Amino acid sequence: MTETINRTPTRSRANDARLRQRARAVIPGGMYGHMSANALPPEYPQFYQRSEGSHAWDVDGNEYVDFMCSFGPIILGHKHPKVEAAAAAQRADGDTQAGPAAAMVEAAELLVDRVAHADWAMFAKNGTDATTTCVTIARAATGRAKVLAAAGAYHGSAPWCTIRMDGVTPEDRANLAYYTFNDIASVHRALEEAGGEAAAIIVSPFRHDAGFDEELVDPQFARELRALCDRTGAALVLDEVRAGFRLNDGGSWEPLGVAPDLSAWSKAIGNGYPIAAILGSAPLRDAASRIFVTGSFWFQAVPMAAAVATITAIREEDAVAAMQRTGTMLQEGIKRQADEAGVRIAMTGPPAMPNLRFPDDADLAKGKTFCGAVAEHGVIIHPRHNWFLSAAHTDHDIERALDATSTGFQAVRAQFGEG
Ligand code: PMP
Repeated sequence: MTETINRTPTRSRANDARLRQRARAVIPGGMYGHMSANALPPEYPQFYQRSEGSHAWDVDGNEYVDFMCSFGPIILGHKHPKVEAAAAAQRADGDTQAGPAAAMVEAAELLVDRVAHADWAMFAKNGTDATTTCVTIARAATGRAKVLAAAGAYHGSAPWCTIRMDGVTPEDRANLAYYTFNDIASVHRALEEAGGEAAAIIVSPFRHDAGFDEELVDPQFARELRALCDRTGAALVLDEVRAGFRLNDGGSWEPLGVAPDLSAWSKAIGNGYPIAAILGSAPLRDAASRIFVTGSFWFQAVPMAAAVATITAIREEDAVAAMQRTGTMLQEGIKRQADEAGVRIAMTGPPAMPNLRFPDDADLAKGKTFCGAVAEHGVIIHPRHNWFLSAAHTDHDIERALDATSTGFQAVRAQFGEG
């Protein structure tokens, strides 16, 4: 027998409810994209008022420890003083001007210095800009059309790669072929089907598909992908948009000794400022200079100054080690609690980007009960998407998170019993 628990939120939600109601009138679906709280438990706010370090406050003044970090962009903590100072200094001079500022060259030099495979850099705004530009460069360089991607991987919201087919034509997807992450035989098969027409193989540093357990890359798979690209002339594109600088303060595959030809970056590189980067090796430079890509705001100077300060601080403050340490505390604490509560979980992924799934929970009923109770106790995580640590998370934040997750497990047990 399982008892039913009261899931009515006890924190005030009045301002959030009013904004949601107004949004439904003027914003399709009330909200869209990855930040929509429509499918989240009722304990989650949709709208936030402010954020500081590892904490966020919703529009009703409720405070949270934020383990989503804006879905990745916040790597040093909200409003990091050095990043804010660099952004403010640049803003005082100019932002969207008649042309780019010196900060563009400084950001390109810094990325080329930090990321081993990179000989040059281009900038854009969003991750989708970066992955799409990588694909365009690979096609320009090879004169071929096909792109191989891991089935289920997310590389952005453009028609060539988006996850929903509404509004997408078969022609938009005609040049996309699929392989299975960590399965080199499936890459061989996809290459064979592409019949010598593969322009690029795009891959994430590890498997981080929403709704699935995370899976670290098999180093042998990475090495064989590199060898296959060398043999066939396809460009190896590493999609660093989500993982970039959270696993390593250079490229994510540098510890494996595997260098991509192109890499796509965004999220963490500006600590919340809107910027994306396309990094490439020397042989792709000519193709990169021939394609035409641009955007009205791609040359904004403030995000470039913020990126220089962010990338510098990531190394100076040993951010990767900090996230690894607190993320490990969080993952291990949660695993211990699940054991003690007699609740089965799959806690996967690198400590800086953990993912929690309840087995046999296709409708996310357990995940939502858990995350709702955790949000109610002032901690933001996600039932379907991986979470993000930042260098601003403290031991005290982890203790607070573990207090909250312990109530989450109680709620799951009360509602669903052991198992
Ligand atoms: N690639 C990966 C791996 C991502 O996680 C994302 C965003 N979640 C993108 C590409 C697209 O980035 P954006 O939403 O900034 O366009």
